[in-house]
Formats: sequence, structure tokens, C-alpha cells
Amino acid sequence: MRITHTIWRRVLGLMPGEIAADETGWLISPHQHMPLLLQRRAMMLVNRVRLFAFLFAVLTPMWIVVDILTLPDSLWHQLALLRLFATLAFSALVMWNPQDGQLPRAYQGMAVLFAIPTLFYIGSHLIMASHHLQGASAAVGTGYAFLPFVLMAAFAIFPLTLLENLAFATPVLAAYALAWALNWQVASWPSFGGEFWLLSLLAAVSSLASMSQLAFIIALVGQTIRDPLTGAFSRRSGIEMLELQLVNAERAGAPLSVAFIDIDHFKSINDEHGHAAGDKVLKKLTQQIGQCMRRGDVLVRWGGEEFLLLMPGTDLVQAWQAVNRLRNNGFGQRPDGTPLTASIGLAERLADKLNQRRPLVELADQRMYQAKQQGRDRVISR
Ligand code: GH3
Ligand code: MG
Ligand code: MG
Repeated sequence: MRITHTIWRRVLGLMPGEIAADETGWLISPHQHMPLLLQRRAMMLVNRVRLFAFLFAVLTPMWIVVDILTLPDSLWHQLALLRLFATLAFSALVMWNPQDGQLPRAYQGMAVLFAIPTLFYIGSHLIMASHHLQGASAAVGTGYAFLPFVLMAAFAIFPLTLLENLAFATPVLAAYALAWALNWQVASWPSFGGEFWLLSLLAAVSSLASMSQLAFIIALVGQTIRDPLTGAFSRRSGIEMLELQLVNAERAGAPLSVAFIDIDHFKSINDEHGHAAGDKVLKKLTQQIGQCMRRGDVLVRWGGEEFLLLMPGTDLVQAWQAVNRLRNNGFGQRPDGTPLTASIGLAERLADKLNQRRPLVELADQRMYQAKQQGRDRVISR
């Protein structure tokens, strides 16, 4: 276990960007990916599918000219027909443009993108098998045999997890074996074995390239969606996340609580001890809250010294307990050694009958303000 752990750490050290230790599983499967990452990646995959489909839609018919010049008539007729079908299918894929950021949709596009050349390969392989080509024709014919290799290399441009790579590469490998099996009298074992091995190696290299792209995206998304000072989510990504959480909560009929947290007398820390001291207090507060948050809770830096804690699946009573757990754990200390306190307003989508992001946050903000008026260092939930 220790050895695999060490090797894994080494491998990650080679990855571009810096992936946090708890994000390493994200390279294996997409199940743990946070919604924002899922959405951005889905959009990226769709765009790349369309880019590839466009390239193939242009190149596939162009090659007909080469076939006409080098292959016997009966052969190029059949291949041209196959090429036209493939071109139509690629063009349809270029037109396809879902903007919903759903990963299953991106998978569908990729499956179609890879299915077209795979079927084309099997078809062309069967057509060619009935002809005995020589000279230039044989050279062009060999070119057709390279298609699965091109396809395997194409995986490198898609940011995918290990499992996704396996799921997409296996059918291509299987199709290659199938095309060979359909034609087993002609082909020879050693050359099939050698090519299959090469194809598998290529699959492994492309997967690595694809996963390192994913690692880079995870690192970038992680940086852009967080506030650089505290590491809490930035306001913009907080808004996106709250909106996603509201949709999910509504669909599931589940509660969703929001706590508006504002530090008490924060300005005097800056005034008396300088801005750097204020920054340190903000960082410490984020750490303290992070210690007590449940998995699935999201801390957002809403403004300078204002934070929003999003608690999906949490009703008002549970949120009240959660927030008091935070207060008991403390928010850190002021530079003079006294405990840092905060005023907190709580709102919950079911109890307050608010299903829109803006009014829900505004209500929590108003209650925070009431907490300030009533003497600070307290929670108000109605
Ligand atoms: P109250 O108890 O009423 O909330 O008093 P307060 O002093 O905390 O309230 P106020 O909103 O007046 O002060 C917020 C201060 O936070 C003002 C601003 O200078 C400071 N601030 C905002 N962003 C930052 C930051 O990134 N770093 C530091 N050090 N200070 C910040
Ligand atoms: Mg404030
Ligand atoms: Mg304040």
C-alpha cells in the first residue's frame, strides 16, 4: 500500500498544475467532480467533438480524389459511397450543438464521433479484403488500415478520466479485433498481434495525455473559482453553485439553508493593526469554518469580510445547530487576543418559502443585519 501510495504521489508530481491530494480521485472517475467542473468540461468536450467532426467532414470526401487516382474503379466506387455516408454523419455532428453543459450529452457526441470512423474502418476493411492490391494501390490501401491509430491518437485532445478513456478506447480496440476476425483467412497472426499491441500502447499514451489535460483543467478551474486570499469560493462561483443547488433541492423537495456571516468590528482590526493583520484574520476564519463544515457544504467569500455558507439538504433546525457548532469552535482571534465574533443571518428555502437565489440571500443578509442591531455575536433565523 505504501509503495503504491508513493508511486501515485510521484506520478501526480509530474502532472501539470497542482492537484490537491483530495482531488486525485477525480482523475480516475467523474463521480466526485463538482458541478462547476462537470459543466465546464462537458462544454469543452462538446466543442472538441464538433471541431473534430468538422475536420473529418472536410477531409473524408477529399480523399476520394486519391482513391480515384490510385484504386481500381469497382473499389473506389464502393469506398466513395462509404465516405459520403461518413461525411453526412460528421456534418450532422457539426450541426449538433447542445449548450446545456450536461456530461451525458457530451458522452453521446463522443460516442457518435468515434462510432463513425470505427464503422467506416470495418466497412472499408471488408471491401478491401476482396481485392488484391499492388503498387500504389496497395500503399493507399494500407493507409486505410491506419484509421484506428488516428482515432486512438485523437483521444489525447479530450480531457477525460481514466475510466472514461477505458470506456471509449475499448470499443475501438474491439472493432479493430473484429475487423481482423471477419477477415481471418487473409490476415496473419503475428502482424495482427503486433498492430494490436501498438494500438494498445497508443491508447495508453493518449489516455495519459488526456488525463494530464484533465489535471490541468481541474487545477485551473480550482484556481479561478476560488478567492485567492482565503481559498473560499469566489462570489461568482458561489452564485452559480447556489443556483445549481436550488434547482437540485427543488427537484428533490429537499431543504437548503443559507447562512450570511459578517465579522463583527472588522474594520477596527485594519485600522489598529493594518491590512495584513486583517487578511490573516480572514484566512484563519476560513480555516476555522472549514473544520466544522459538513461534506457538501460550500463556503463562499461574498464580500470583504462577509461569507455565505451554503448548506444543501439542511433544514432550519439543523442549520441552527450547524452554525452554533461553528460559533463554539470559534472564528479565531483578533490581533489583541480576544475572540473574533460574527453576526449571522439564516434563511431556508422551504421554511421561508423562497426558491430564488436573490431573495434567499437578501433575507439572510437582513437577518444578519438584525443580529448586528441586537448587539452582534449572535444568530437570527426568523
Ligand atoms: P460590523 O460589526 O458592523 O460589521 O463592523 P465592520 O467594521 O466589520 O463593518 P464594515 O462593513 O464597516 O467593515 C468591513 C471592512 O472590511 C472594511 C474593509 O476595509 C475591510 N475589508 C474588506 N475586504 C478586505 C480584505 O480583503 N482584507 C482586509 N484586511 N480588509 C478588508
Ligand atoms: Mg460587512
Ligand atoms: Mg463586519
